[in-house]
Amino acid sequence: MDCYRYAINFNTENIHKEYHDVVIIGSGIAGVYTALEISPEYDIAILTKETLEISNSVLAQGGIAVSLDKKDSPELHFKDTIFAGAGLCDEESVWVLVNEAAENIKKLCTYGVNFDERSPGQLALSREGAHSMNRIIHAGDTTGKEVCDKLISVVKTRSNVKIYERTFVVDILTEGNNCKGVLVYDEDEERFKLYLSNIVVCATGGYGRLYENTTNPEVATGDGISMCYRAGATLMDLEFIQFHPTVLYHPQNRSFLISEAVRGEGAILRNINGERFMSEYHELMELAPRDVVSRAIFAEMKKTGASNVFLDITFKDRNYLENRFPNIYKTCLSYGIDMSRDYIPVAPAEHYCMGGIKTDIYGRTNIKGLYACGESACTGIHGANRLASNPLLEGLVFGRKIGDEINSVLSDSPSRKVDFKLDYNVSREEINIDCDSIKKKIQKIMNENVGIIRDKKGLEQAKNEINELWVKYSKALYRTMKEIEIGNMLLLSSLVIKAALKREESRGAHYRSDFSKTDDVNWKHNIEMNINDKE
Ligand SMILES: Cc1cc2nc3c(=O)[nH]c(=O)nc-3n(C[C@H](O)[C@H](O)[C@H](O)COP(=O)(O)OP(=O)(O)OC[C@H]3O[C@@H](n4cnc5c(N)ncnc54)[C@H](O)[C@@H]3O)c2cc1C
Repeated sequence: MDCYRYAINFNTENIHKEYHDVVIIGSGIAGVYTALEISPEYDIAILTKETLEISNSVLAQGGIAVSLDKKDSPELHFKDTIFAGAGLCDEESVWVLVNEAAENIKKLCTYGVNFDERSPGQLALSREGAHSMNRIIHAGDTTGKEVCDKLISVVKTRSNVKIYERTFVVDILTEGNNCKGVLVYDEDEERFKLYLSNIVVCATGGYGRLYENTTNPEVATGDGISMCYRAGATLMDLEFIQFHPTVLYHPQNRSFLISEAVRGEGAILRNINGERFMSEYHELMELAPRDVVSRAIFAEMKKTGASNVFLDITFKDRNYLENRFPNIYKTCLSYGIDMSRDYIPVAPAEHYCMGGIKTDIYGRTNIKGLYACGESACTGIHGANRLASNPLLEGLVFGRKIGDEINSVLSDSPSRKVDFKLDYNVSREEINIDCDSIKKKIQKIMNENVGIIRDKKGLEQAKNEINELWVKYSKALYRTMKEIEIGNMLLLSSLVIKAALKREESRGAHYRSDFSKTDDVNWKHNIEMNINDKE
């Protein structure tokens, strides 16, 4: 795909510059926890596209996986993660995740995070799909909010950390194979700026907003992954996208997640005729892996001609549900659904991206000084499908690893003021870009043909449709954040489609109806992409 190196033209001679030891992009769990793990002697900038509190992390409901029960162990957590990953997990990364889980949770508690307790000093552990043990710690059903609120309040007290909200990162600056900082658009001042640094951590989250129906917030347009690709970072596993089986299906709300923890508490899936159906699809019934449950619901919806199924937890009483799921209970009630009496209408929606910027266990990408953490990264812990409640843990465990690594890099060679000069000027077309309508088009294309069930015909159609938009808009003169987002979405959609077309098998979250079997002989390997690859 013919792609300009930078999304806009700029000249370092006449652009405002700031200098930092470390620049972190993103204020979700991965970005903020990483900042807290970097020694206070270093000057850090956290840049975030919206306000601090807007991220996927804040929306997380169910909890964080950690083997704390006497009967549980990192080995069992490892086994479950590897099983969910359907043959494509990186075992070394998974060992790091499960072995370093407990110490990072302990650290979170020292930051003041209050998890629910079953008795004083003993964290309550619940179960989620495809976990063989009870190992999900939680704070009611708003775990992400509790964690983020506390991390943000701590990071705000750190005098070495400066937070820049409404600061949209456009591109990663590089010279040769070295990272030099970032180019940003300051939305309040309405001007472009440079934040120069030899060390940049990309913690920009996933790309759920490439889809029409998603649980992700508006900010999740995959900017970080697109900009790292333009900079020459290798991407991996883009075809693996998890669709959450149970997202509220209501005319006024199609993105509110009904956490897997509700099924963990015994909720039953029923089709539109009220029949329980999961026994036809998997022995673990409602607690089967998410991709299996999503496809089963999809098939059931098709069979019955309905746009949704139901989740039934009416056998639990109101008091219990109000206490265990206060946020879900309240939100459902606001739409007239009392989950202690009514079935909850649900349908699958895009939820999580397993793929992203390829890193090693220290978060290092193939570009010197460029790190990636959290959902934007691909450490290989999820493989073809992520196990529930591992993503928040990933942000913590690898955030700390990156923090340690950066501390050691900076102590070996103290940061110097970055000298970066460039006059980047390529021809751009001045055209009108109707961002809202193009965004909707992209989302529709991705929903229709790059969703839960894919095939060659549909993927080729999506490829052509995205390509048509790409040809029209990729070389436009972008003036606003929304326009640059469109460029990022088009680039990333085309890469996701390319990966999905390439993988001619079904594995984990990637299901091809024209190649419905898993093909270990030809496809038991990850698909990587780099802008410098020859086709
Ligand atoms: C509804 C919901 C429920 C979930 N429940 C759970 C759960 O129970 N347990 C679990 O483990 N996981 C859960 N997940 C997944 C988990 O929340 C995410 O994978 C994880 O929080 C990602 O963290 P992150 O820090 O990598 O990214 P995010 O939290 O998404 O943060 C990304 C940040 O980057 C910023 N950003 C993006 N682009 C730019 C740009 N161009 N310039 C500047 N800033 C930018 C965003 O504004 C945001 O601040 C859930 C996800 C959702 C959506």
